[in-house]
Amino acid sequence: METWQRMFAQKMAWEKPRDKWSLTPEDNLSPRNLEPGWQLYQQGKAFARFECSGCSRRWPSAQVVLLFQMHLAQRQGRVKMRLFGQTCKKCWAARFEKPAFTQEAMERILDNLVQKILQKCYRESLAKPKFAEPLVEEEVEGPHDTARCEACALGVCSVKGSSARAPLAPASLHGRLAGRGADTESCWRLLCYVLPVLAALLGLAVHWSGQ
Ligand SMILES: [Zn+2]
Ligand SMILES: [Zn+2]
Repeated sequence: METWQRMFAQKMAWEKPRDKWSLTPEDNLSPRNLEPGWQLYQQGKAFARFECSGCSRRWPSAQVVLLFQMHLAQRQGRVKMRLFGQTCKKCWAARFEKPAFTQEAMERILDNLVQKILQKCYRESLAKPKFAEPLVEEEVEGPHDTARCEACALGVCSVKGSSARAPLAPASLHGRLAGRGADTESCWRLLCYVLPVLAALLGLAVHWSGQ
């Protein structure tokens, strides 16, 4: 946790040297317990590794969820952070293990968090918000194991369908809207393929009827 705190403080000191920002872990953080004046930011699909404290089994995941709540008042900025865990599939009644990130993955996540703070707490309209894609460090086999994901259990996971079990949270609503956007995009892409073929057929038909 100190690495997160140190890296975050450095990044904020660079962006806003006159303000003081701190980051603290909070285990019960949820998109639903947002206090007035606080901003919410959720990163899904982050890559991290887990290790079971019972059997020492290790596994990677590309569906790790991080939740942040941010607040700025009188030059004092506060961020609460929650890392959602996963349980070991070999151990019965295993507890949620916390994800471990590489330094590079942390950099990327915190860069995105800083962008979000500039947007939401400082109302800066960034011409080109440069949100980085999550870093996937190795291929993860198989679908997301929703039964062993803490974020899925709380209905805040970004994996499609995982929010169906829980009441609709703002974060999952956003996920759904994003999903809808992707559908429309693939529709347009299909149209782009179909239209030239139709035009060619029409041209051929005109050509043949002309003869
Ligand atoms: Zn285990
Ligand atoms: Zn999940």
